[in-house]
Amino acid sequence: MAWFKRKKPGLMAQKKKEMPDGLWLKCDGCGEIIYRKQLRENAHVCNHCGFHFRIPSEEYIHLLLDPNSFKETENDLEPVDFLNFKDSKRYEDRLKAAQKKTGLKDAIRTGTANIKGIPVMFGVMDFGFIGGSMGSVVGEKVARAIDQARGRKVPLILVCSSGGARMMESIISLMQMAKTSAKLAKFSDAGGLYITILTNPTTAGVVASFAMLGDIHLAEPGALIGFAGPRVIKQTIGQDLPEGFQRSQFQLEHGFVDAIVHRKEMRDTLEKVLTFFIE
Ligand SMILES: [Zn+2]
Repeated sequence: MAWFKRKKPGLMAQKKKEMPDGLWLKCDGCGEIIYRKQLRENAHVCNHCGFHFRIPSEEYIHLLLDPNSFKETENDLEPVDFLNFKDSKRYEDRLKAAQKKTGLKDAIRTGTANIKGIPVMFGVMDFGFIGGSMGSVVGEKVARAIDQARGRKVPLILVCSSGGARMMESIISLMQMAKTSAKLAKFSDAGGLYITILTNPTTAGVVASFAMLGDIHLAEPGALIGFAGPRVIKQTIGQDLPEGFQRSQFQLEHGFVDAIVHRKEMRDTLEKVLTFFIE
């Protein structure tokens, strides 16, 4: 029961004043006001506290790969609303809106690329597309990227960013977990090298399949990495969770992550790992 009740016509909530887009923004980590241009120059990492802002797939292509070396594959694959699914919106409309917003057909891009002259198969998920969720297209593109890496005998690198399986595709999205895992087992048997880069957040069905099956797991600082989210676990076990639960530092200490790498050092680290393993 509230102590005070606002009389109906009383004070009206004012519309939140937005800062003009494209100039300044507030850091989610430390609250400092940052000049957007400066943030871009710093790989979208806060200069004050090192908070890693979420970035679209295009930025990772720019940051990690040799200029103009990315040749996109399977770009003709488009999602289909198999189930004629509708929650608060029709899935078909969600897809159209996400495609318009991101300029992508689905939540992952794959392709051949070079990292400091080393040929690789590369994939990068995009959280901006329905939370980076894995539906049939994401699963199929990952599966085909694995096959290509195996066929070409090159390492596979996947940048993961996902809220999990896409519920609008129900069981079909869950089947992608088995498919990608089986493909990775074959790739591993053939001696393939697979590196995953875990960014904020990498969770649920993606963690339970290809994100956690790498030979090497690199993570960005502060990334949430886990199967069920902290809120769900807390409710289930009825206990408070330790500080930093499921963040990359926690997962490093518990053996799920091999190294935490600052975004600006990721490209150099990839080169080191690749040259170490490639004869
Ligand atoms: Zn900050």
